[in-house]
Amino acid sequence: MKKYNFNAGPSMLPREVIENTAKQCLDFNGSGLSLMEISHRAKDFQPVLDEAVALIKELLHIPEGYSVIFLGGGASLEFCMIPYNFLINKAAYLNTGTWAKKAMKEAKLFGEVVEVASSADANYSFIPKGWTCPSDVDYLHITTNNTIYGTEIRKELDVNVPMIADMSSDIFSRPVDVSKYDCIYAGAQKNLAMAGVTLVIIKDEKMGKAPRQIPTMLDYRTHVEKGSMFNTPPVVPIYSALETLRWIKGNGGLEEMEKRANERADALYAEIDRNKLFHGTVAEEDRSVMNICFVMNDEYAELEKPFFEYATSKGMVGIKGHRSVGGFRASCYNAQTMEGVNALIKCMQEFEAQH
Ligand SMILES: *Cc1c(COP(=O)(O)O)cnc(C)c1O
Repeated sequence: MKKYNFNAGPSMLPREVIENTAKQCLDFNGSGLSLMEISHRAKDFQPVLDEAVALIKELLHIPEGYSVIFLGGGASLEFCMIPYNFLINKAAYLNTGTWAKKAMKEAKLFGEVVEVASSADANYSFIPKGWTCPSDVDYLHITTNNTIYGTEIRKELDVNVPMIADMSSDIFSRPVDVSKYDCIYAGAQKNLAMAGVTLVIIKDEKMGKAPRQIPTMLDYRTHVEKGSMFNTPPVVPIYSALETLRWIKGNGGLEEMEKRANERADALYAEIDRNKLFHGTVAEEDRSVMNICFVMNDEYAELEKPFFEYATSKGMVGIKGHRSVGGFRASCYNAQTMEGVNALIKCMQEFEAQH
């Protein structure tokens, strides 16, 4: 039976990305060696890194003065590297979910942290509005897509301070005005590649300003100066990122990714709103187009498990909601297809008809 992958991360990748990466794992560029067993210093690997960086700059229209690096440690390591490198006196954080809160916790180790707003009291079911950011902060940290709760900031915020963004789960799903950010970071395993690498985009002039000594490996300058080759980079994840970037470009770039994401999300939310069994969990204007969360209506609460089993029997994978929201979460990253979304919608309609 055909499986439809709605996993939240690691998550679905385009089939050709997986196939092309698998081929290189068997025989890298006809060298007779696997991508897994070549040196990262081998002459064939540098072009992989260079092309990946060039495609990232091209797709996101990154202006001059920014560097693009690949690191280990996941987005979670960036939670501490950001304040280590960029927090001088005071930083502002917008608390929109679990990941934002974790980022804020690390920042408190390095200086004063202002929580400009929070929707924690409402189980993070909306993006706070109408707040102001102090003008004397070093940066405002935001999480553009809240993977667990299914809210998203899809329009660039209008603030008077530089922003730093965790874009782990919506990077490359829309055009971004990179000039508004001092730093953008993203763990790869949601929308870019297999797990094991983190993408970081940094404004060069903002490095080296923090009044503290930084361990070599946690200092962005180390990795920028060495072009992500200070130590052994995760070669296979970077290769799979390159394949995804080629796929994005070949499929029309970020405008097209955004169009497809909207089409998928519009269709699924329309069904959630129409179907008598379900309702969405977040404020309509803040609905994520990447992670679509929904729960059973109260009067059908006992049908949660049966629906999960029904959908699973029809090939849906990974639709169980995160434990902090419950219900269901259909993750629709770039690689998700309209066919997958329609298959899920069909399950919802068939299940409704049975009840
Ligand atoms: C998954 C995720 C993280 C954590 O990523 P790791 O690479 O596992 O550390 C952080 N932020 C967001 C928004 C995420 O979706």
